[in-house]
Amino acid sequence: MPMTSSINDINIDTVNKEIIRGLLKLPENQFCGECGMIEPQWASVNLGIFICLSCAGLHRRLGTHISRVKSCELDNWLKSEIEAFKETTNLKAKEYWESLVPSDFIRPTYADSNGLKEAWIRCKYEDKAFVPEDVPGAKRLNFSKREGYVYKKGIIVKNWKRRFMKFIGDDRLEYFKNEQDKTPCGSISLHDCGQIDSIQELEGRTFCFIISTPKRRYLISCDNYQQLLIWIINTRLSSKRNSP
Ligand SMILES: [Zn+2]
Repeated sequence: MPMTSSINDINIDTVNKEIIRGLLKLPENQFCGECGMIEPQWASVNLGIFICLSCAGLHRRLGTHISRVKSCELDNWLKSEIEAFKETTNLKAKEYWESLVPSDFIRPTYADSNGLKEAWIRCKYEDKAFVPEDVPGAKRLNFSKREGYVYKKGIIVKNWKRRFMKFIGDDRLEYFKNEQDKTPCGSISLHDCGQIDSIQELEGRTFCFIISTPKRRYLISCDNYQQLLIWIINTRLSSKRNSP
C-alpha cells in the first residue's frame, strides 16, 4: 500500500541518516577526503569517501562513471551504499588512492584554487596516478621530469610565447626559445615566492598558473591537468626548500 511503503521509506531513511551521521563522527572521516576541510557533508558513494561541498562540485565534474556524489543529509542512500561505507573510511581510501604519492608531495588543500584541486582529483581517480603498483590501468605522473614546453605571457608584449622551461636546482626556473638553446630568455627566481597556484582560463589559454615573486607575477599555461599539477607542486617544493 502506498501509504505504508511511504512510511517505511521514511523510517528506513531516518535510520540510514543516523548511520551516516555515525560514520561521519569517526575520527578518520571528520575531514574532507580531498582537501582537509572540516566536517564533510557530501560523499562519493562509489569511491567511499566523505568530501566537502566544494570537492563535491569537483567530483561531479569527473562524471558519474568515475564518482557518484550524494549529500549525506539531502539525498537518499541505498542500503548497499551504506554497507560499503561501513567497510571503509577516508583514511583507508587515501591509503589506496594515494598509495604512491611521492613522500615530499605537497597535497592541495581547501585554501588552494579549484583548478589545482581538480587537477589533483583527476590525476587521482581518472588516471589512477597514485594507486598501488599492481593495479592495472594506472597512468603515472613523472615528478622527476622538471622541464618541458609551456606558454608564458610576456610582460612587455603581452602575448603568449611558447618556451622551454626547466628548473635549475631549486634556485630558479629558466626559460628558452628552444630546448637546444644555451642562453635563456629569462629566469624566475624561486626565492621568496608568494602565490603559486592555478588560475582561471585566461585569454583562451587553459591550464594556467601563476608564480608570484617579489619582482613580478609570471603567468604560464601548460597542455593538460597532469602537467599543471606537476609544475605547481614542483615549483612549490623548490620554493619551500628555499624558504628560511
Ligand atoms: Zn574538500
